[in-house]
Amino acid sequence: MAARGVVGGSPDLLVVGGGSWGTWTALLAKKLGASVTLMEALVPGHRDATSGDHSRIFRHAHGEDELLLGWARKSLAAWKALGTMSGEELFVESGVAWCVSDLGLWEAESERRLRAAGVPCERITADEAVKRWPAMSPAALASVLYEPTAGFLRAANGVRAAARAFTKAGGVITQGRAHPAADGSALDASGAPISAGAVVWATGSSLPGLFPELVGADTPAEITPVRRDVTYFAAKGMQVGDIPTWIDAGVGVWGIPDESGHGAKVGPDFDAGSFDPNAPWPQEATEESIQVSRQRAGIRFPALLDAPLKESRACQHERTLTWHYVLDHHPANPKVWLAGGGSGHGYKQAPAVGEALARAALDRSPVALADRRFKILEREQGPGNPAGEPTEEI
Ligand SMILES: Cc1cc2nc3c(=O)[nH]c(=O)nc-3n(C[C@H](O)[C@H](O)[C@H](O)COP(=O)(O)OP(=O)(O)OC[C@H]3O[C@@H](n4cnc5c(N)ncnc54)[C@H](O)[C@@H]3O)c2cc1C
Repeated sequence: MAARGVVGGSPDLLVVGGGSWGTWTALLAKKLGASVTLMEALVPGHRDATSGDHSRIFRHAHGEDELLLGWARKSLAAWKALGTMSGEELFVESGVAWCVSDLGLWEAESERRLRAAGVPCERITADEAVKRWPAMSPAALASVLYEPTAGFLRAANGVRAAARAFTKAGGVITQGRAHPAADGSALDASGAPISAGAVVWATGSSLPGLFPELVGADTPAEITPVRRDVTYFAAKGMQVGDIPTWIDAGVGVWGIPDESGHGAKVGPDFDAGSFDPNAPWPQEATEESIQVSRQRAGIRFPALLDAPLKESRACQHERTLTWHYVLDHHPANPKVWLAGGGSGHGYKQAPAVGEALARAALDRSPVALADRRFKILEREQGPGNPAGEPTEEI
């Protein structure tokens, strides 16, 4: 079968998937001077993609994981620059409070790394925290590790802004659903090969279905798509400025202050079921998720116990066994790269991940990685869980 070009000819790089990772990869490859086409099944930043929610937390803390701390710093600068360029606020510096209600070992590891790296952080007592944020309850609160320069990113808007910057720089976005040939090169919906110098697959929860032998069930780099629901409540005194973005791993819940009228966001660390990424996607949280959100968040912010629900969403969540990403080339083809398994902490890192992928796929000063945590085969465990969630599930 003859190789078919995509709109814009046969580019140096074809990126499949217009979520945060794919869009930033395409943008940064374009900035490296390559011709790039981004192929997205729907539109970049659509609601059902993992990157398509209103907001995602930006934090520097990653436990003992110094690589991801460095990537977070680099990524924040890139998000801010994109916001300036696009004339919209993509990052909101609300601060992030790590509420310690268990042993706090993960937060202690994080604090050590933050201080060594010179990232601003404070350790405050429960009494001080409640004085600072009166909506917060001191119930079972040992202390708070506070990151004043962290906050949250406007998630779907951030992807759209990166996509606009990409087209402005001369990149081409085409709508279509690709699938892989045996060596990982791309085929279009009719099965015809799509010609490109290199391919990056950044298809979120669809990646294990497209490459079951590499990242599907029972492989070392297994990516499991699960469903995680988020809820938005209309609660007084929980705007940006009243409370910080907060994470309470001991209780198993996190939240983002109300902004832009969406409501105070709550996300329980709770799988609301498995799913088929190709089946129609539910638009709202389950009743059980709403109840779990309320009960857990109400321990830390009692106003949420009876606050009216404004909105809820079912989110696609794709995680690996180690909670470390998959960023590696196809074993049969060094010009084909797979990127996925964001594991609940991948959105913010899109600029650093995108740069690593763009350089690797184009073979332009590839970013050297010290360990094999992101590999498909002979994958190493890597540093402890970078997500900050309890580790029983590993
Ligand atoms: C509830 C929840 C909370 C989270 N919280 C945070 C957080 O606070 N901070 C953080 O940094 N991260 C967080 N994450 C993780 C983060 O959202 C993801 O790691 C990140 O958004 C994944 O982006 P992606 O580009 O890999 O995938 P996606 O955003 O899912 O993008 C994949 C794209 O590929 C397209 N696609 C799929 N198949 C094909 C195909 N065959 N052909 C063409 N296109 C295709 C899809 O339409 C989609 O647009 C959270 C995730 C969840 C679910």
